[in-house]
Amino acid sequence: MKTLPEQDDLLLRLRDFHSDYFPLHQQRFQDLVSQGQHPKTLFLGCSDSRLVPYLLTGADPGDLFIVRNVGAFVPPYDGSHGLHGTTAAIEFGVLSLRVERIVVCGHSHCGAIRAAYEGVPDEAVALTAWLKLASEALLPVRTSPEALRRTEQRAIVLQLERLMDYPMVRREVEAGRLSLHGWHYVIEDGEVHVFDARQGGFVPASLASNSGTGPYQPYVEHDGQIISAA
Ligand SMILES: [Zn+2]
Repeated sequence: MKTLPEQDDLLLRLRDFHSDYFPLHQQRFQDLVSQGQHPKTLFLGCSDSRLVPYLLTGADPGDLFIVRNVGAFVPPYDGSHGLHGTTAAIEFGVLSLRVERIVVCGHSHCGAIRAAYEGVPDEAVALTAWLKLASEALLPVRTSPEALRRTEQRAIVLQLERLMDYPMVRREVEAGRLSLHGWHYVIEDGEVHVFDARQGGFVPASLASNSGTGPYQPYVEHDGQIISAA
């Protein structure tokens, strides 16, 4: 075996996976190859390194079809032929994998939401455009921990509403074959707050009666403000 450069910890981890983890789960992986993947959940999460979908949901290989981007945003559906990675993943998840749930998962201390208020370096032209997907969630106030938390949650609701503009999503939701779930993961508490349209806000999972409901119509906040993805 070649001597390993000490600093290449990634290579060490690849070897550990192969020698330690894989032998214990080999059958599962081979089943997933021979039978194909049949994940029931499309998990659309922020790219933040502190958000670990498999840990949060206790999922195993094959359980989650994951798409992640900065902010956990859903681009508007416009039917165009651009290189829309997130849109393509949604189409694939709904039309080909026939997932039964879509989870949109944002989180506390989200750098994307903060950046939507504070801006990014001029050179980041794609990021500047991307962050506009949160603009309708922004509040006309100075940023504070409370304002950021509320904006993170509003942004999640906004993405759920945008999902309903995807024809294949709306069709499956209306047919009762697909449900939408908005999650706000509070990193420091280790708890997900789920959006419950009927209760009118985000409820800690420890108190919630379900893992999220919609919204499937424009959502009206407590103060009467309507969050609209239009
Ligand atoms: Zn984030």
